[in-house]
Amino acid sequence: MLRAQTEGARLEKQPGFQRLHAEAHVPIPDYGNRARCLVRLMRLGMPVPDAVALSVAAVRAIAAGQMPDVASILAVFGADPVVSVRSSPENPAWGGPGTVLNIGLNEKVCARLAEHLGDDAAAEIYARFVQSYSVHVARLDAEEFAACFQPGIPAAESRDLALRTYELEMEEPFPQDPAVQLGHVLRSMARAWEGTTARLLRQAKGAPADAALGLIVQRMALGLGPGECGAGVMQLVSSATGAPQITGRYQSQAQGREALDGENGVAYLTRDARGPSLQDICPAAFADLEAYAREARRGLRDEVQIEFTIEGGEARILDAAAVQRSARAAVRIAVDLAEDGIIPREEALARIEPRALTEMLHPQIDPRTQRDVFAHGIAASPGAATGRIVFNSNAAQASAAQDEPCILVRFETSTEDVRGMHAASGVLTERGGVTSHAAVIARGIGVPCVVGASDLNLNPREKTLTARDGRVFREGDLITLDGSSGEVLAGAVPTVEAALDDAFVSLMEWADAVRDIGVRANADTPADAQLARSFNAEGIGLCRTEHMFFEEDRLTVMREMIFADTPEDRRAALEVLLPMQRDDFAALFETMQGQPVCIRLFDPPLHEFLPSGREAMLDLAEALDLPVSRVVSRIEALQEFNPMLGMRGVRLGITVPEIYEMQARAIFEATIEASRNGDPVVPEIMIPLVSARREVELVKTRVDAIAAAVRTEKGADFNYTLGVMVETPRAALRAGDIATTSDFLSFGTNDLTQMTYGLSRDDAGRFMSTYVSLGVYPEDPFHTLDPDGVGELLLIAAERGRDARPDLTLSICGEHGGSPESIAFCRRAGFDYVSCSPFRVPVARLAAAQLALTDRVEDRKIAE
Ligand code: PEP
Ligand code: MG
Repeated sequence: MLRAQTEGARLEKQPGFQRLHAEAHVPIPDYGNRARCLVRLMRLGMPVPDAVALSVAAVRAIAAGQMPDVASILAVFGADPVVSVRSSPENPAWGGPGTVLNIGLNEKVCARLAEHLGDDAAAEIYARFVQSYSVHVARLDAEEFAACFQPGIPAAESRDLALRTYELEMEEPFPQDPAVQLGHVLRSMARAWEGTTARLLRQAKGAPADAALGLIVQRMALGLGPGECGAGVMQLVSSATGAPQITGRYQSQAQGREALDGENGVAYLTRDARGPSLQDICPAAFADLEAYAREARRGLRDEVQIEFTIEGGEARILDAAAVQRSARAAVRIAVDLAEDGIIPREEALARIEPRALTEMLHPQIDPRTQRDVFAHGIAASPGAATGRIVFNSNAAQASAAQDEPCILVRFETSTEDVRGMHAASGVLTERGGVTSHAAVIARGIGVPCVVGASDLNLNPREKTLTARDGRVFREGDLITLDGSSGEVLAGAVPTVEAALDDAFVSLMEWADAVRDIGVRANADTPADAQLARSFNAEGIGLCRTEHMFFEEDRLTVMREMIFADTPEDRRAALEVLLPMQRDDFAALFETMQGQPVCIRLFDPPLHEFLPSGREAMLDLAEALDLPVSRVVSRIEALQEFNPMLGMRGVRLGITVPEIYEMQARAIFEATIEASRNGDPVVPEIMIPLVSARREVELVKTRVDAIAAAVRTEKGADFNYTLGVMVETPRAALRAGDIATTSDFLSFGTNDLTQMTYGLSRDDAGRFMSTYVSLGVYPEDPFHTLDPDGVGELLLIAAERGRDARPDLTLSICGEHGGSPESIAFCRRAGFDYVSCSPFRVPVARLAAAQLALTDRVEDRKIAE
């Protein structure tokens, strides 16, 4: 012992080398995560074998060829030590070179070990070391050693064979000097970290280019020998759900993580039907391990998996690493740690990646599945869906009617496809980007969706889908979509169901208690609104009313309205739609129980309501009792070169005012009805695609007149607000002027991004990945709000709007509303709320809470 201490002193004269003990100072940036973890375990009084940490600087020097005084490291462990070397990267998620065990084994040590362990165990350890040294350090082919470890071969023979194989391949005897062995192991691991493949691999996991690695030399707990010996891992929770459950594996007469690799001879930890468990084999060690694991959880403030070795019935702790966890488990673990007083609630909130919550809200492909991917697209709406291919909405509805799950495959979708999308389990389009029609609708209704799968060739006439590798899929073939990754897979694959447990509910409540920006949902139907409420949205920030006109009975009346020649005929058709709209709004108000509901007046171009194929035109002519030539010419007359820049939104509201009049009346009548039945309703009416104040004035005059008329007719009073959807750059620039006639401004960043960039939101998917990969755009601006261009417009508009009208309500309702980066932007800009599709509401609530918490910490720092 004394000698080891003296040698320790010699070691510590070398900068960058430290013997680990409870008081050792090993900052993570200097020594890596594992060194720090071992010191903490030692501090907790755990039986951790002696260890020496090599700093990041020392490891870099070794990689560059400067060998340290290796003998002084070994000397710390006393005479004839057997040690392992483990990597200690700054962040465990980056991985690192694999552990090398049993360093120090040579003829002499083998003979000495044989005295305690018996000949067989000693020979086996030696043979294993020769093999792993040959493969990891001398870089010999692992295959060469396969013969040495055939079942039934005595240990001594394995050892001799391994030594002979080494000699034959390397043309020199196996090195006997432990210092030489250790030096080579250290150099090989230091260099492996610097290798190109390893660098690329860890960079893919988010590591910086100069990611740091420390190394740990640790006395081996052998795991082989007389009495109960072996190795295994233990954790206290399930990785899938986070629920308390002692899980892990143990293998007698084994080392390192061997118990995890094979099935033969593996024991589980607790008693169950699968065979003898560690609890049966060695109850005392099991009890100690459980106590250590609980102590590690408390001391390391996380659920950890402990790696252990048992020697003669005594447990030793070699390492503790954060438990692998699904999103669901991450939430449960964080909440349970907070409930047990181990971490504060704020920390539990900070530990969950907001986007990971979407994983909990949708079924996911089982991570253990072998994926047969035949196409890639843009991940437009998360979750996994399996179904038979259908190529049109009618087929999707027919399939749903027979309870047969289907995937609707289209070039792109339009309003006509909405019902088919509702019927389908998933939607796949060849074109489109993250704010294309398919993406927006699918996200809203929670249907998994992949868009812009341009490596597919769709032939709707032949009803085939051809993959780039030549495989042809036909109507009725089973495929699976992964809307979280954008992959399209052949066949059906196992999925893991969505689960919202109590822990999720608690986490969300804690988030709401600290959040300081409102979160509403975009919802078009009472079903969406119900969903929004179940995710605790604080109202509806955008109801896209046009979707209400696609029900079968309404579509025909809508078309009659479009074909009307006079305002009177148009009004007559709209009269039929009025009660339907009124019921829609009344149901929305009732579902939202007094929470705010922002209704956007009709937005899309009218031609979207007309059929495109010859056959459908004939049907329409028949339904409307018109000559087919009239139908064709009306459809042609409504065609536009740039419909997204054409007769839509407020432009339609001004030139065909009867539509907005009908909608205003429906809103006000529903307001009276719903207020009578429940909480008072104050509807918010929003005008889309505004670019000039005069547009707002014209609409406002008519809406106010309708309100006055309804008040008189019904003998009831109500309030409402009228605001503008800022979707054109001009509206943003003229926000000061527009705000004088508006109660609120809500930024429709889908169109605003489209118009600021001059980039079609439906077509940009075709080249977006090239643009992003070449760094033309840092990200897809339809996905992540462009803070520089579109963001500047938002800031200008917010400032000018609020200057003109200090009580102006500001919000965002484009698809960006649910992304944590945009929420940060809107919060900084002083917005009142964000609105996003219902399934993103939890993500927004958590992201907003995390931002508020970060600000609190900053404020505290400033105050100190
Ligand atoms: C927008 O343009 O951002 C928006 C929310 O409206 P829509 O997606 O319906 O065009
Ligand atoms: Mg828009």
